[in-house]
Amino acid sequence: MRFAAAPRRMEAMIEAPKGTRDILPDEIGRWQLVEARARETFEGYGFREIRTPIFENTELFARGIGASTDIVTKEMYTFPDRKGRSLTLRPENTAPVARAFIEHQMSRGTGVQRLYYIGPMFRYERPQKGRMRQFHQIGVEVFGSEHPAVDAETLEMVMTYLASLGLTEAELTLNSVGDATCRPAYRAALLAYLEPRRDTLCVDCHRRMQENPLRCFDCKVEADRVTMAQAPLITEFLCADCRQHFARVLAALEAYGIRHRVDARLVRGLDYYRRTSFEVALSGLGAQNALLGGGRYDGLIRELGGSDVPGFGFAVGQERLVMSLPDGGEVRAPGPENFVAALGEEAVGAALRLARVLRRAGRGVVFEPLPDRSLKSQLRRAHDLNARRVLILGETEVRQGTVTIKTMADGAQETIPQTQVVMHLGGSGRA
Ligand code: AMP
Repeated sequence: MRFAAAPRRMEAMIEAPKGTRDILPDEIGRWQLVEARARETFEGYGFREIRTPIFENTELFARGIGASTDIVTKEMYTFPDRKGRSLTLRPENTAPVARAFIEHQMSRGTGVQRLYYIGPMFRYERPQKGRMRQFHQIGVEVFGSEHPAVDAETLEMVMTYLASLGLTEAELTLNSVGDATCRPAYRAALLAYLEPRRDTLCVDCHRRMQENPLRCFDCKVEADRVTMAQAPLITEFLCADCRQHFARVLAALEAYGIRHRVDARLVRGLDYYRRTSFEVALSGLGAQNALLGGGRYDGLIRELGGSDVPGFGFAVGQERLVMSLPDGGEVRAPGPENFVAALGEEAVGAALRLARVLRRAGRGVVFEPLPDRSLKSQLRRAHDLNARRVLILGETEVRQGTVTIKTMADGAQETIPQTQVVMHLGGSGRA
């Protein structure tokens, strides 16, 4: 059967919205690979998956990220629902996971909760290479211990995960951003440095000075970066507890043999970070070279109405991860185990029967009812799909009740009775 002729007037094509993209079957192998490795690795460290809603009440992000952050002020997809409630497509997932943690009283008992998630996030940013409006993150959160061993072990897990994907060149940079004891003095010192230079700073930095002057380190304006290069550093202000905490994280990294660099200007954009703050970068990513970021946020759960539960987490940008995989991504998703090639309309019935018998025996079968195609074109199609073998039902086979089995890897071919196929294939489907 042929498709009906296209209508004469073509409708205008609708494209995916700006800043979004389709992930097509030909590239899905790389996505599935980074997800599968994440699950294997994280679960090996005791992490369990959590799935939270794609949208949340707007207030969650205003409180959980910080009302003055770029994310909250400029980048959120916020809309009223039909009853006028303000909802927001999640721009990140730490606040939602923390919300779920509180809502489901997951802090009951004495353990450490280790959670991971994989899914889309939304930020209204100017799209460019490696920066999308809908992007995907793979992240983890650890709740319930402020011990530096949590920081160290989770950092070790990140690097192990990246290494499992062949990303051995990833560079870990970290810092301590202090806590409620020492940050106020640092904040004051930073302001004392910035005030006399106010006129040279951009308007965004004026806002940052008022709300969270540490964030001036995130400014992308070149002149401001020069100013910030001379600014006082948090390292000189850390209290004894923060200093010791950081020293223990660094000592553990040394013991693990993990290459790292301390950068006293790494403060990251979010309000709730305490103590350890880190980034992992990869040179090939250009301006957007941060592959992942994270840190400790001991104040978040309390900020969101829970008790005083410390947290530590990170999020990897999946687009950037997939883009960075070595070898230009020759990761192909496994194709079907069996592709049935029926030649001619008479073979279709036999193909359907054969496919059903095989599927009931637990075998994967693809059958495309386009029996007018030549054998050559069907074999090409099976090859494109990465099929393992082709079960050919031609005129002779149909007449004789047989099927010709062609193994794609070596081209070997043999003809057997249809009734013996299941037995002939033996073993399990994927062997
Ligand atoms: P953040 O939640 O801002 O700490 O970002 C963590 C990671 O998510 C970054 O290092 C990026 O890899 C990724 N990421 C953040 N924003 C975007 C975006 N708009 N498009 C693609 N990836 C992003």
